Amino acid sequence: MNFDINNLLRDNIRNLVPYSSARDEFKGEASVYLDANENSLGSPLTKWYHRYPDPLQWAIKEKLSAIKAVKPEQIFLGNGSDECIDVLIRAVCEPGIDNILICPPTYGMYSVSANINNVKIKSVPLTPDFQLDIPAIDAAIDDHTKMIFLCSPNNPTGNSLNRADVEVLLNNYFGLIVIDEAYINFSRQPSYARDLVEFPQLVVMQTLSKAWGLAALRVGMAFASKAIIDVMNKVKPPYNINQASQDLVLKALEEVGQVNDMIRILVEERDKLAAELTTVPGVEKVYPSDANFLLVKVKDGRAVYDYLLTQGIVVRDRSNVTLCEGCLRVTVGTPAENQTLVAALKNYSK
Ligand SMILES: *Cc1c(COP(=O)(O)O)cnc(C)c1O
Repeated sequence: MNFDINNLLRDNIRNLVPYSSARDEFKGEASVYLDANENSLGSPLTKWYHRYPDPLQWAIKEKLSAIKAVKPEQIFLGNGSDECIDVLIRAVCEPGIDNILICPPTYGMYSVSANINNVKIKSVPLTPDFQLDIPAIDAAIDDHTKMIFLCSPNNPTGNSLNRADVEVLLNNYFGLIVIDEAYINFSRQPSYARDLVEFPQLVVMQTLSKAWGLAALRVGMAFASKAIIDVMNKVKPPYNINQASQDLVLKALEEVGQVNDMIRILVEERDKLAAELTTVPGVEKVYPSDANFLLVKVKDGRAVYDYLLTQGIVVRDRSNVTLCEGCLRVTVGTPAENQTLVAALKNYSK
């Protein structure tokens, strides 16, 4: 199979002449910068923030490359994964004509981003055990299905998708296949990033918002072939990761060890919390999780949600979501926070 991203692109994107910034046109070192209409006197904050940031964030990509074992030119950085989703949809889906395929219950931004871009959505629900319904996906795909969004581990169900099912798609479908791995660090499954060599239509998304604890900095990543990454870079706003975020991310990436320690603690806490919740009267089921949250089925989801609010505890009410009826999604917190939650739930059921 000869996959060529160019065959998938919208005509206007294939022909797009991207914005060329001052930093694109001069890349070397100079002593006098008079090319970008910045304020050479500086800023009230610090002497650094008066210059535009590196549009392609190479320093960060070099570091990420070593951590993720993906080449720097195969990494795209977005203003959160949410920007990666939007850029991909805009690059390949012709509004009003093309469609994306999603498998709910899943992360909400795929459909929101498609709707903003007036791109149709084919929804093929997961099976009752939260796995891909391959025959139904096969039946739903048409000539205008430009991309499939898979989420593994999936939000809000917490499970990983079966690799065999994902491989069926990778071997037979040649639109873009985006695998959202926002929760991969908490999972027992390896990342699909190692499969990029074999599957040219694959895009793997990760984020610094979850395991790395940097949700406020808004940095998401996409790993794909250089050809796909080049298109994403062409479509994104020129300076999509600001300098303050770039500085802090560079610093944070030095601390892989500390992050791995946190992941270990959160995974331990998750499994402990899951075990404890199953003993709480009124809790009907705690679903297995490969993420940093638990999907918990209770007798009356909305009532338990409201009660927890009165105790100052906010969880996510998913009780009206298809296949998640009666369920709350609970993020694994600090050990103390998790104990507070368990104690509150035990009190409720008394
Ligand atoms: C939290 C989450 C993200 C992260 O989005 P950012 O924009 O990077 O913060 C992406 N995908 C899923 C499924 C998530 O749950």
